[in-house]
Amino acid sequence: MTATNWRALLKGKHQLSLRLFLLLNSFSAGFSMLSPATNTQHLTVPIILVLVLSLSCLVWQFVNKTKLININLISLIFGLLWAWHIYIKATAMPNEDLSFLIIALLAILFIGSISFINNIQAFIASCLPVTLIVFWLDHGANWPRLLYSIILPGVGITIQHIIHQRHENFTRRLMDKLLEEKETLNDLSMLDPLTGLYNRRGFRNRLDTILSLGSGQHYVLLLDIDHFKAYNDNYGHSMGDQALTHVSAAIRDAVRSRDVVTRYGGEEFMVLLTDIDAERALLTAERIRQRVYDLEIPHLFNEDVATNVTVSIGMAALEQHDIDEALRQADAALYRAKRQGRNSILTSDSLLIT
Ligand code: GH3
Ligand code: MG
Ligand code: MG
Repeated sequence: MTATNWRALLKGKHQLSLRLFLLLNSFSAGFSMLSPATNTQHLTVPIILVLVLSLSCLVWQFVNKTKLININLISLIFGLLWAWHIYIKATAMPNEDLSFLIIALLAILFIGSISFINNIQAFIASCLPVTLIVFWLDHGANWPRLLYSIILPGVGITIQHIIHQRHENFTRRLMDKLLEEKETLNDLSMLDPLTGLYNRRGFRNRLDTILSLGSGQHYVLLLDIDHFKAYNDNYGHSMGDQALTHVSAAIRDAVRSRDVVTRYGGEEFMVLLTDIDAERALLTAERIRQRVYDLEIPHLFNEDVATNVTVSIGMAALEQHDIDEALRQADAALYRAKRQGRNSILTSDSLLIT
């Protein structure tokens, strides 16, 4: 997804340089027509084609903004047209004119390098035909001067290309790193820092995925540690935190990996038992209650319940994807479990277990 975005960005940038190339070509063709270098014919077929083609490509690009033109192909076509034009002009001249050839070559190299400073292929495609034709027309008489005219921009653009490639690689690595960080932050924002369980946000996220997959009956368990305020008051907040961590691990260990365990509030947890029947769901709830009890975290202030930390659990079925209703029912059951003496499990009224 992001790699595609990156490629799209690059393509967009190249299309911009193509527009510049087309613009410079149309200017240059127009100028050649109005003020020809020598007093040979003003209009040649290729120069007319350069003007018409560049202007129509510009208009086409303006209208079809999303459609991309093949840059290498276009630059090669323009290169060939310019070579053709130079050939017609040079052969029509009474005497061989080196300055015409050099100016023509430099003009083409200038357009190519300024437009395709970051696109070496397009640069070569646009300049190679003219370079070859100029060498050929010159019969090798002034090759050092011609070579110099080519090598200078050629070396310049190659170095520029290397620098640009480095920048691009750096930016790309930076972007990958940022995306990685973003994903980590996104994951972290779904977890509760103390227990490592999902927080409500993480739960919603998992729930959406589970519900979108469809199928199966799910059950919701709401768990609340008994007399935890008294635990904190008597053993201190940091011991309270430790107890919370141990209870969380016990809950996590008592369920299957596909079940979703959430820290729902301070000392409240919610478990979504996925794709399970009522009987097994109740057995799982009982296993959780027992595991927490078996932790044997001393809690002498658990009053009438026990001398260690215990949990009360309310259970309800998740019907018709209505999580709020299931939570309301589980909460009501939990409330009754508390009133009936804690360290126990009660199911919602609508739940009949056979
Ligand atoms: P009940 O059996 O009715 O649930 O009684 P309770 O004392 O557990 O219920 P209450 O809601 O009155 O108290 C919950 C306590 O949980 C209050 C708070 O001190 C404690 N608590 C909530 N979050 C945290 C936490 O992150 N760390 C610690 N150490 N304690 C917490
Ligand atoms: Mg509570
Ligand atoms: Mg409590």
